[in-house]
Amino acid sequence: MTDQLHNRHKAVLPDWLALYYGRPIEITHGEGRHVWDAEGRKYLDFFGGILTTMTAHALPEVTKAVAEQAGRIIHSSTLYLNRPMVELAERIAALSGIPDARVFFTTSGTEANDTALLLATAYRGSNQILAMRNSYHGRSFTTVGITGNKGWSPTSLSPLQTLYVHGGVRSRGPYAHLADAEFIAACVADLEDLLGHTRDVAALIAEPIQGVGGFTAPPDGLYAAFREVLDRHGILWVSDEVQTGWGRTGDHFWGWQAHASSGPPDMLTFAKGIGNGMSIGGVVARAEVMNCLDANSISTFGGSPVTMSAGLANLTYLLEHDLQGNARRVGGLLTERLRAIAAQSPFVREVRGRGLMIGIELVKPGTDEANPAAAAAVLEAAREGGLLIGKGGGHDTSVLRIAPPLTLTVAEAEEGAAVLENALRTVC
Ligand code: PMP
Repeated sequence: MTDQLHNRHKAVLPDWLALYYGRPIEITHGEGRHVWDAEGRKYLDFFGGILTTMTAHALPEVTKAVAEQAGRIIHSSTLYLNRPMVELAERIAALSGIPDARVFFTTSGTEANDTALLLATAYRGSNQILAMRNSYHGRSFTTVGITGNKGWSPTSLSPLQTLYVHGGVRSRGPYAHLADAEFIAACVADLEDLLGHTRDVAALIAEPIQGVGGFTAPPDGLYAAFREVLDRHGILWVSDEVQTGWGRTGDHFWGWQAHASSGPPDMLTFAKGIGNGMSIGGVVARAEVMNCLDANSISTFGGSPVTMSAGLANLTYLLEHDLQGNARRVGGLLTERLRAIAAQSPFVREVRGRGLMIGIELVKPGTDEANPAAAAAVLEAAREGGLLIGKGGGHDTSVLRIAPPLTLTVAEAEEGAAVLENALRTVC
């Protein structure tokens, strides 16, 4: 059955739509932190939290909100008053930390970043964008054009002029040997130097912790230091919170808050998890920036009452159940446990991350060389053991990515860690 579906998939979908696993999985249903495949196998899901399902699979509160709204009306949104959209926008604006914030809803993170680029370029009258090396921002023509991770950027024919800045990756690159303060100083000097060779840059866009790039983060305070330079040049700061938003990092609700002395960014973009699987994306911006367009811009499906109802129910649940605190507590325990496991393996270079966003970087033993073959083998072995994880990284996909739904329990964290321990031991 699954093999037949795989053949049909290959026949009709693009070749570049890569699937996980030699024998890809057809997921048919889920509950809590678990999913089941078409063959009836149950998996603990350590990746779905970032793929889409931030809170829990089949969360009854979200299911009920979606069903009730779908039973009332499913309609295009932006041309008429839409209560769930206004209510969710009010709540996100208040949570964003951005003063006088306005929210524009899209249906994906790509579109959210596209909108942020539209706003930044219009506001500044410039098509020059600063982005980070090894970043990922989506797959539209403009967002692949600013994506610094070239494994995820299939064309260089961008309408934007992009300049790539050092700093997103802490443990590799020319400044990796420096202590945190010197690392920041070197990145700031690099940015200043870059700006000395250009004029009228529109914005810097950055993920506070790079997601697809392998869950790698700069030292806290980098963006505060960047902010001072950007302000001097009038350049906007856009924080791409598609993976780091909504409390996943445990210590903070938004990733930018790890750089809090800088104050909020001019814009932040969000997507993925807020709909707990429903397609929501969006931009929050200062009113002055949001309102700079002088022609209509609408989104037919951004702000759909059904997805907005899912977002409202999901946001209420995650705040009422302090899932940010859960990410901090359970994520902390899981990281500690994974570090203990890693200490036994010559293949693990680093276990890093924050909250429930944890990366395990694999190398060839005794070297610093990325080991994508080992990462692929651990991914398969974990699946055999009933655990779904992700992978990512720079040019070589050698980082295992762990991002479970935010309701993960301590027992489930232990269970998943045991599978990973076994997978690492058997394949590495
Ligand atoms: N920004 C970041 C940081 C992401 O990780 C992603 C998705 N992986 C996107 C943007 C694009 O989001 P979407 O897939 O919803 O278009």
